[in-house]
Amino acid sequence: MARYWWQCTACGDRPAWLAVCQSRSIAAFIWDELAPSGWDQRLLRRTCKCKRPSLRITYRSQRGDPDRTSIRHIVGLSPDGDYLPMLWETFRHSSPRRRWIDFKYQRGRSPWGLTKRVVLEKAQLGRLLRAYERVTRLAIDARAATRTGPGVTSGRALRSIRHSQLTLSKTGPKTGS
Ligand SMILES: [Zn+2]
Repeated sequence: MARYWWQCTACGDRPAWLAVCQSRSIAAFIWDELAPSGWDQRLLRRTCKCKRPSLRITYRSQRGDPDRTSIRHIVGLSPDGDYLPMLWETFRHSSPRRRWIDFKYQRGRSPWGLTKRVVLEKAQLGRLLRAYERVTRLAIDARAATRTGPGVTSGRALRSIRHSQLTLSKTGPKTGS
């Protein structure tokens, strides 16, 4: 299970987890705070004591990886029972402009699925992508963005498309992390 912490990407400060949110773990935070808020993305970008809004949930995407990854967005589908599929947009501190998309799930407050392969119904994938675009106002499908015309698509959305990378959670056997 990866460890998660809050860290300021501007000054590097690393306050105690519970000094930033009220839930004891990332899975509890997602279940009890982020999902009930309607995926309010401001909850993922807190103001640091350095006054910059750069405090984000941070982790190492692989064990032993010296590079840190921070979460820019998390959008999920309203839980179906206790099953909560999600799309995470992250960036690596070594290359902050490149955006990564990661599909994950959790069951209730269990973080088990966060490191597991996620299998989505095709309809769920479509709903996740639409939820992401609605909540973040960023486009994922470059062709769809083009169809809406240049007057509608913001430069920010286009940049986001160009820098997007797609990744799926590790599918290999568990390596003991
Ligand atoms: Zn700071």
